Amino acid sequence: MSVVGRSRDTTTMKAKLPQDYTHTDDLAWHPFPEAFSEGGVMWKLLNVSPEMGGWTAMFDCPTGSSFARHIHMGPGEYYLMSGVMEVQGGESAGGVTAVAPAYGYEPCNARHDRTYFVEGGQFYMTFLGPIQFIQEDGTPIAVISWEEAQGLWAAQNGQTIPT
Ligand code: ZN
Repeated sequence: MSVVGRSRDTTTMKAKLPQDYTHTDDLAWHPFPEAFSEGGVMWKLLNVSPEMGGWTAMFDCPTGSSFARHIHMGPGEYYLMSGVMEVQGGESAGGVTAVAPAYGYEPCNARHDRTYFVEGGQFYMTFLGPIQFIQEDGTPIAVISWEEAQGLWAAQNGQTIPT
């Protein structure tokens, strides 16, 4: 049995990835899309990691702002630097009320119907995989992987993505 379309007889070599450093005050805040948030959420994309399917961002969330219903398609870790954030309705609804300074871990497939800022603040988060925004019945609205996050950030900053 032959293999059709075989075009390589060597393993593809990869370049070593560069180190990176960003002073986060040097990055401008940009609006996080209103399709996925309410109340003036801003963000800064700090890094994407195609080899892990990961992306890391900071978010600035005014009092009363929220993120739309979503599922974490991979695990994520966050550090809440300021503010009070209710995840999945907060403690009174069986979720978590994160009070800064706070660390949190979201497992793969965590569903968050309501992520709400009782008190405005900022957090840093690494997503190891996409975020899937969903309707109440679970129907997907959009899948935001490192590639979509990078595409949005590039468009907001007038940057070109290398090919
Ligand atoms: Zn979440």
